[in-house]
Amino acid sequence: MPITVRADLAAIPDYVPGRKIPGAVVLSSNEVATPPPDSVLAAITEAAAEVNRYPQWSSDDLLDRLSGRLGMDAGRISIGAGSVSLCQQIIQAMCEQGDEVVFPWRSFEAYPILTQVAGATERRVPLTADHRQDLDGLLAAITDRTRVVFTCVPNNPTGTVLHAAELDRFLAAVPDHVLVVLDEAYREFNTDPDVPDGLRLAADRENLALLRTFSKAYGLAGARAGYAVAPAQVAAGMRKVAIPFSVSRLAQAAALATLDAADELLARCQVVIAERDRVRGELLAMGYEVPESQGNFVWLPLAERTVAFNEHCVDQKVLVRAFAGDGARVTIGLREENDAFLAAARTFPGRAQ
Ligand code: PMP
Repeated sequence: MPITVRADLAAIPDYVPGRKIPGAVVLSSNEVATPPPDSVLAAITEAAAEVNRYPQWSSDDLLDRLSGRLGMDAGRISIGAGSVSLCQQIIQAMCEQGDEVVFPWRSFEAYPILTQVAGATERRVPLTADHRQDLDGLLAAITDRTRVVFTCVPNNPTGTVLHAAELDRFLAAVPDHVLVVLDEAYREFNTDPDVPDGLRLAADRENLALLRTFSKAYGLAGARAGYAVAPAQVAAGMRKVAIPFSVSRLAQAAALATLDAADELLARCQVVIAERDRVRGELLAMGYEVPESQGNFVWLPLAERTVAFNEHCVDQKVLVRAFAGDGARVTIGLREENDAFLAAARTFPGRAQ
């Protein structure tokens, strides 16, 4: 008998890397387009001199720094190699075989994959007609087997948000045995004053975990660092299931340096925000439906026109993230990159429908 991998892995889609087209404008991953400040590069270079040594077990320097900065006990913070590994750690720490994970759909692509890999059962709750997360639907999907409910604010890929009053109501209504995860990967791009700071919500709650990342606003997608703020017992569980030493010396040094450069990096987000609003305005003027986005991307719910739109953009050497039958997500890049995308959108034959 030849060796085989778990049969249920066949149901998990393979990762499809973005197409490589020389000279193309790449707006298909939610990165920031600007390179790191010199101070961050210098910190990475300095850390590189010691890569013969293992990194700290719990990224203690970053942990201390975040604890002070957030005013949060270090026992409630867990650091990971990007927030996607923290998603995985939460599911692994919370779920046994057959336990349920509820999430809005469409949302971050990793939620269903990590759920299946952990052997848990997914419950997808469709977005509302206006592309928002359906909190009543999420509540209705909770059963005795549910252990985790994800919400994503702003939501990837739609850019839509949830407001303080509705989140407060939701958190109060979720049964005690369920952990709510608020994924705030794009929080620094939000300008809606009614969106709560997850930290305020988490401060006095026993059932909420936050996920934050250095990959987006802090520009370290290639370094891999993120953190969770969670109830102490959840943070402890996350540490147990973590892959040892997965946060490298370089990642930790880079993350610390971005905190020193936070003013500069957050000022760059303002440029992205202005471009996002310009791109959306132009798309609306062309007749596209584009929900208001609070992320560093816009969403075009093109439904059955998505594949044709994607092919047209590829022909114009602009790469977007297409979800067949659903829509296309376009990351906000540099002004000239956004202009290349807008030119492609303008000439899409199927745009006026
Ligand atoms: N959450 C959301 C909503 C995301 O869109 C992403 C990245 N696309 C992540 C988490 C993970 O980001 P990272 O692992 O780079 O921190």
